[in-house]
Amino acid sequence: MEAATMNFPEVRNYINGQFVANGHDSLEIFSPIDGNVISKMPLSGMRDVDAAVASAQEAFEGWSATPIKERVQVFYKYRTLLEEHREELATLVHKENGKTMGESYAEVDKSIELTEFACSLPQLVSGEIMEVSKGVECRTEYAPLGVVAFVSPFNFPNMVPHWTMPNALVLGNAMILKPSEVVPISAIRMAELLQEAGLPDGVFNIINGDKEVVEALCDHPGIKALGFVGSTRVAKIVYKRATSNLKRCVALGGAKNHLIVLPDAHTEMTASNVAASMSGCAGQRCMAAAAMVGVGAVDHIVEKLCEEARKIVVGDNLGSVISKEAKERIERYITEAEQAGAKILVDGRNATVEGKEGGYYVGSTVIDHVTRDMAIATEEVFGPVISIIRAKDVDEAIAIENGSDYGNAAAVFTQSGGLARYVMEKASAGMIGVNIGVPVPREPFSFGGWNESKFGACDITGKSSIEFWTQLKKITTKWNPEARTNWMS
Ligand code: NAD
Repeated sequence: MEAATMNFPEVRNYINGQFVANGHDSLEIFSPIDGNVISKMPLSGMRDVDAAVASAQEAFEGWSATPIKERVQVFYKYRTLLEEHREELATLVHKENGKTMGESYAEVDKSIELTEFACSLPQLVSGEIMEVSKGVECRTEYAPLGVVAFVSPFNFPNMVPHWTMPNALVLGNAMILKPSEVVPISAIRMAELLQEAGLPDGVFNIINGDKEVVEALCDHPGIKALGFVGSTRVAKIVYKRATSNLKRCVALGGAKNHLIVLPDAHTEMTASNVAASMSGCAGQRCMAAAAMVGVGAVDHIVEKLCEEARKIVVGDNLGSVISKEAKERIERYITEAEQAGAKILVDGRNATVEGKEGGYYVGSTVIDHVTRDMAIATEEVFGPVISIIRAKDVDEAIAIENGSDYGNAAAVFTQSGGLARYVMEKASAGMIGVNIGVPVPREPFSFGGWNESKFGACDITGKSSIEFWTQLKKITTKWNPEARTNWMS
């Protein structure tokens, strides 16, 4: 679509079912596709968070008292609306984030799947009951927490808010969402569609802004729990601040995912999986392959990988990176690795797309003979770049993977079941793939990393998230006064 038709109305905060023009300042929104300004959004502060918390607290009273089977009806309708608006929502993601239309459709499809899981929650949270002494019963109920908040990163403007919003709301909470200030437009349509689906005003609110809003969410005494997804640097700050204010917090951080490739791996499948993993969403996925650890004689796979990487074309099947700064950072990592002695096999620097010269593009890049002391081997690059680190055997490959501070995902490519199992056991990451480059657990399985890729208990999606968004009420009843009284009854 041409730049001239890409403008969006100014982004507003969403409080108590109304779009309101507050905030103390504003920020321009750029489309990374061509670098054009496409909208403006408010920079909000504690006053705005206060108003959202007040509206959410009021709405929580009625929403939490509504039976879950009634609450979930809103999400059946919402799921249908997501499907009906699939193209429009995908187009928004494409324009504000820069990923390809195909990737944007996949993002919306994943939001639909997440909403479907939320629709299944009534079947999963029925609680337990048991007669523990004669006439004495214990039962458990999953009670909502109250007003909760979620802070989102730039890389999945539609999907990542759906990691938390549907589950938290179906479970009876009211939520305040703080979208990434780089991609705030998709969330506006979420709010509109939730309203159309019949969600009561105040149950879902959006406050736009930067770290000032996040700090206010961490500090506000009316917020019971905070979910965060973003970089490890910020996850640490947010986790410390929220928990020091005695809030429940789960904070997902960055990643450096290792794919261990053994010489017996299927050549074509491995090469195409590694290429897709490192370049999908321009490498801006926390599940993206960052390092391929090649064990022994894998030159034939490296050769095929380069062939696959050359088929990935910017502006066609490779979208933009998020900003000029991101492009410069990624290219700096490549140049520094080259200067340190690594070999650039496929070079994506200085990529441009005709007619979109203002856009931020990096081509797919394959770098061989990266060593563990190079910054590119350990730091999160977050671009369409794969570093190949050579290892003499599988134990050295595992040591390289285990040496990372992160622990989001790891994968092994082999045709040997025994070796695959060995790597599965030894890898230090929360999500493991065998012959899969992007081992995202799909619902009802939970998503979450280990080490510095996640702080706090529970995962962010799936069954594990039930525990995060609820508290157990334990009830003991006795209606037979004639029952013998002992210390247990
Ligand atoms: P980011 O950490 O810069 O920003 C995330 C959020 O934190 C934004 O809403 C931002 O406004 C806020 N923020 C920024 N600085 C802050 C500060 N000092 N104090 C409080 N809040 C602050 O992350 P990003 O650049 O938007 O997203 C990319 C990062 O997210 C990558 O590191 C990626 O790996 C990570 N990520 C992780 C997962 C996962 O599941 N582990 C998923 C998606 C993205």
